[in-house]
Amino acid sequence: MKPSVVIVGGGVMGAATACFLARDHGVRATVIERDPGYGRASSALSASSIRQQFSQPVNIALSLWSLQFLRQVGDELAVGDERPALGLVEPGYLYLASTAAGEATLRAQQPLQCRLGADIALLDAGALALRFPWLHTADLRLGSLGLSGEGWFDGPALLQAFKRKAQACGARFVAAEVTGFDIQGSRVQAVRCADGSMHAGEHFVLATGAWSAPLAALLGLALPVSPKKRDVFVFDSPAVLPGCPLVIDPSGLWFRPEGRGFICGAPPRAIDGVTDPDEPPLHAIDHAQFDEQLWPALALRVPGFEALRLRSAWAGYYEMNSFDHNGLAGALPGWDNVSTACGFSGHGMQQAPAVGSALAARVAGGSSSAPALAALSPQRLLDRQPLVEANVI
Ligand SMILES: Cc1cc2nc3c(=O)[nH]c(=O)nc-3n(C[C@H](O)[C@H](O)[C@H](O)COP(=O)(O)OP(=O)(O)OC[C@H]3O[C@@H](n4cnc5c(N)ncnc54)[C@H](O)[C@@H]3O)c2cc1C
Repeated sequence: MKPSVVIVGGGVMGAATACFLARDHGVRATVIERDPGYGRASSALSASSIRQQFSQPVNIALSLWSLQFLRQVGDELAVGDERPALGLVEPGYLYLASTAAGEATLRAQQPLQCRLGADIALLDAGALALRFPWLHTADLRLGSLGLSGEGWFDGPALLQAFKRKAQACGARFVAAEVTGFDIQGSRVQAVRCADGSMHAGEHFVLATGAWSAPLAALLGLALPVSPKKRDVFVFDSPAVLPGCPLVIDPSGLWFRPEGRGFICGAPPRAIDGVTDPDEPPLHAIDHAQFDEQLWPALALRVPGFEALRLRSAWAGYYEMNSFDHNGLAGALPGWDNVSTACGFSGHGMQQAPAVGSALAARVAGGSSSAPALAALSPQRLLDRQPLVEANVI
């Protein structure tokens, strides 16, 4: 008899885990999601880009495994004749350095990324100018470019594809909000929901994204994960930028093509003396940041962006792990039958395929070709051993 699994949270992490449990291990999970329209879920508001330019081996490995999965997603998540199409493109990420310290960081990271299988090239200012004639390079010392394997895709469509495949393989999605747990010793017996319903199981997975801390607190664990708003601006420009990758400017600005225009963003500024508060309303977009900070930085890096028109903007929450800005995936310390996958701090969309596969194998007692999750174990919180990721966007 296969164990019955209850997954709390039906975003991309929960849906991926449910999908791999059902598809690869014959385990039919119940996924409990309080907002089936995903109005505030990170997975619905993501910029959905994928890179291997990380500093931690586990992040590089998870991203590489997920990339292969995304490249063949039509086969992996087909339901009958329906093959999901995510529009994956691979123009790369381009990290730019204008200082000696920035250059040293790029030079130090690239050998590890390449050794693990990533396709990353270092380009000096001359090579950057040749490859990207639209880029202002006079102040640059070095760029680090993903020649293949890095780019972007339709993240919300990935969530829906995981969900559809999971359901086709027997997973059940329930609309309810989990508010408590029935506990016996070091085991959870059931989750309790706001509507009075209860769902019993053999194993439980917390995949509640930015809202994981309140549930973990009910299990006695302080998770350093909270909702941090990130604004994304959409603009049009007559500038033509052949081969434009996702550019990360030394100023903190990032931009990339999206459809017929571009999107961009940057870390938040202090507002009324407060920087990056927890869960401000999503509609409170800092439009002045675009006018005062982002537009000048865009025009400096790409002179063609002098002419641009802001079309729209949206915001979503990073599920920020303030301990070390990396995912928390694996057994919840102190509990025999609870796991989590949360806190991915802005790189969870691209890691969901690999994390979902590895976590499903762990829960089902089966195997997966995805990288081991040991380095992301939440136990590191108790051991005070941060896994610091240098490249957080
Ligand atoms: C603006 C923005 C840009 C991003 N860009 C990228 C990117 O370029 N590349 C990348 O890889 N990642 C990116 N991310 C991050 C990525 O989107 C997230 O890491 C990922 O979507 C997290 O998925 P999740 O399933 O953990 O969380 P979510 O999608 O938030 O899902 C969690 C779900 O749990 C539900 N839930 C919470 N509490 C309860 C409860 N008590 N009971 C029932 N349900 C509950 C919520 O309703 C929610 O639907 C970005 C995120 C944002 C906001």
